[in-house]
Amino acid sequence: MANPNLMSLEDALSHLLSEAPVVTRVETVGLADSLGRVLAENHYVPADVPPADNSAVDGYALRKQDLHQDQAIPVSARIPAGEAPNALAPGTAARIFTGSEIPEGADSVVMQERVEVTDAGIIVRAEVTEGQNIRRRGQDLTRGDLALVKGTQVRPHEMGLLASMGVARVAVLARLKVAILSTGDELVDPGTPLAPGQIYNSNRFTLIGLLTQAGCEVALCETLRDKREATRETLLRAAESSDLIITSGGVSVGEEDHVRAVLEESGSLSLWRMAIKPGKPVAFGAIGGTPVLGLPGNPGSVLVTFLVVGMPYIRKCQGRNHEDPAGERIPADFSVASTSMRREFVRARKEPRGSELVVTAFPNQSSGILSSACWANGLAVIPENTTVSPGDLLTYYSFAELVS
Ligand code: AMP
Ligand code: MG
Repeated sequence: MANPNLMSLEDALSHLLSEAPVVTRVETVGLADSLGRVLAENHYVPADVPPADNSAVDGYALRKQDLHQDQAIPVSARIPAGEAPNALAPGTAARIFTGSEIPEGADSVVMQERVEVTDAGIIVRAEVTEGQNIRRRGQDLTRGDLALVKGTQVRPHEMGLLASMGVARVAVLARLKVAILSTGDELVDPGTPLAPGQIYNSNRFTLIGLLTQAGCEVALCETLRDKREATRETLLRAAESSDLIITSGGVSVGEEDHVRAVLEESGSLSLWRMAIKPGKPVAFGAIGGTPVLGLPGNPGSVLVTFLVVGMPYIRKCQGRNHEDPAGERIPADFSVASTSMRREFVRARKEPRGSELVVTAFPNQSSGILSSACWANGLAVIPENTTVSPGDLLTYYSFAELVS
């Protein structure tokens, strides 16, 4: 049964994604610096890759019809990789190496291991099929084809592919600039002794790590005190220097929740009681034209809401073509007897059990604790209104997949 007062994750995401402003600033980077960046334009293939037929092995290039049972054929040329070969003299073979261009007139390459070398030339001791051991011109990329589309996030192999096309510098979308604002008079930064009533600001560092992994630039990082005017001033300043403001804490309905009040007064705000656990209160709004994602204050909730709500939004803002994390279906190795109307994201671990994989849950799933997340390597999903018995299949997402 769905609770009409709670917003489903799907509804929240479809609202968020429909409003996500995609970065349009473009910069050009050297190919070596392009890892993780998002291509700002399509890449068409300027010339065939490889540019010519070449040998897949070390051996001898020849024309199949010149081979006669047990007869030696003379070796008339040697073609090292990197040299443009002359045409093959009829009735002869050319010594050739992996990557060397196939000489005109040759139609096959015989591996050196299949050949007996004699004074009169080589005797081929194997069946030869025309075309064997030849890598064809354009077999990787054909001139004019669309090799990589705009919105692709560059991985190491995309760097290699671009290099194979001769691309030295590449146009990428600017990194999303994100401001991190922590809220609460109780927060102090690590490095300072704690006074009574204080705690260390952990969310700030969790968010720095997550945003860095997500390829964002942390534009600003400040702590908002529980004061209305100071909160307003900092939010407006953050809006000027960032594409997105992420706050933690201060968005529930307590009287010290000034972020909510300032957004309502000076910007806009939707406060969602989301049907997810942890992370019920999530706010989305804007100030000074910059979107604001208001995450809860509890450290466990910050992690989960960032991963399941923040990341899809950030990917869209980054201009990435990205498939949603697929997750894996893995049998549970734990039980949950009571049901919840909220979908629960359990800090979990995928582990081998004998020859099987199972997903195990950290015993304490309190939203206030982070050690559970450090023990875990991902999140397992318990659907709404569902109990769990050992062996039940659950969807599990690794942290790496969620933040990719
Ligand atoms: P709030 O939403 O501001 O009421 O915060 C909920 C809980 O999260 C409170 O226990 C806060 O002390 C805690 N909290 C809020 N922000 C942080 C932070 N940046 N680091 C660690 N704990 C926090
Ligand atoms: Mg607070």
